[in-house]
Amino acid sequence: MKKYPWLYKIYKKIINQYFNKTNHHTILIQSQINIGSSKLILEICKTILCQMPNNLNSCNICHNCELINKKNYVDLYIIKVEKKKKFIGINSILNCLNKINNTPQLGSVTIIWIPKVHLLTESSINSFLKVLEEPPVNTLFFLENRNNFLLKDTLKSRCITYNIYAPEKKNSILWLKKNVSKKYTLEDLLIALNISENSPILAKKILKNKIWNTRKKLFDKIYELIKVKNILLLYKDLKKYVLKKIYWICSLILDAIKYFYNKNIKLINTDQNKLIKIINKKNSKKNLFKIIKIWMKCFFYIKNIPKVNINFILLESLIQWEQFFNF
Ligand SMILES: [Zn+2]
Repeated sequence: MKKYPWLYKIYKKIINQYFNKTNHHTILIQSQINIGSSKLILEICKTILCQMPNNLNSCNICHNCELINKKNYVDLYIIKVEKKKKFIGINSILNCLNKINNTPQLGSVTIIWIPKVHLLTESSINSFLKVLEEPPVNTLFFLENRNNFLLKDTLKSRCITYNIYAPEKKNSILWLKKNVSKKYTLEDLLIALNISENSPILAKKILKNKIWNTRKKLFDKIYELIKVKNILLLYKDLKKYVLKKIYWICSLILDAIKYFYNKNIKLINTDQNKLIKIINKKNSKKNLFKIIKIWMKCFFYIKNIPKVNINFILLESLIQWEQFFNF
C-alpha cells in the first residue's frame, strides 16, 4: 500500500477497525476515477484474508495471498457486469448472495466486492438492501463508487462511506518524480497532472507511454493548421485516442478563455503559450464559449451514445470550429 501513499491513512483505518472488530459490515469507497480505489480494496482484502499478516500488511506469499493474486480465492466474490450487458442485474446479485449463505471455505470471512455500484439496477439494489438489513455473519461488503454517480440514500445509509481525494499537488509531484523518467521537467509533471484531474496514477500513465508525445504532436498540428488556415485537416489526426484528444482540445480552448480574463492566470497547458495566444487572438470571448460547447458535445456523443458515427461527429465539430476562425 506504500506504493500509493495518499491511500494509506484510509487503508490503515479500515484494517485497524477490522482487526479490532469495530468495523462496519458494508464499506463504500467513493472517489474520482484513477485515484486507486480498486487497489485500496484489493490490498484490504488481501490483508484481511492473509494467513500471516505482518504489521498491518499482507505477506503476499501465503496460500491465500497467492490465490488472491491469481484472482482465484473462493471467498472473495467480485460482482461485475455480465458480458454483453450494461447493468448488474438481479441474477448476478442473487447468485452471489446464495453462495454467501454458506460459511467461508478457506478463511474466517467472506468478502463481496461491487466495483461499479452505480450499475446496479433498481431490483438489484432492492434485493441487496434486504441482505444488508440483516447481513450474514462473517461477511464484509465493499462498494466502489465514482463521485459523479449519485447513489440511492437507502443504500448509502446502510454503509460507512470513505471519500478518497487526489493528493495535494506538491505530494503528487514528489510521487511522480519517483515513478517516472527523470527526463521530464517540473512543467511536464504539472501539465500531466492538470490534464489528469490531478490524479497521479493517470498522470504517470500519460507520461509513461506514447500518449505524452501524442498530445505534443496534436498541439503542433493544430498550430500548423491554424497557420495554413485549414483546421479541417485535423480530422485524420483525431481518430486514434479520440476522447483523450477531444479532452485536450477542450483544455486548450479553456486556456484561451482564461487568457481573456487574466493573462497571468495559471493555465492547464503551460507549454502551449504560443498556441493558446493564437487561438485567443483569432476568436472573440463569446465564440470561444461556443467552440468549447461544440467539443464538449462531441465528447459527450462519442463517449455516451453507442454505435454513434464517430467520423461524422468529428467532421461536423471541425467544420463548426473552422467557421469561427473566419479563414
Ligand atoms: Zn499472505
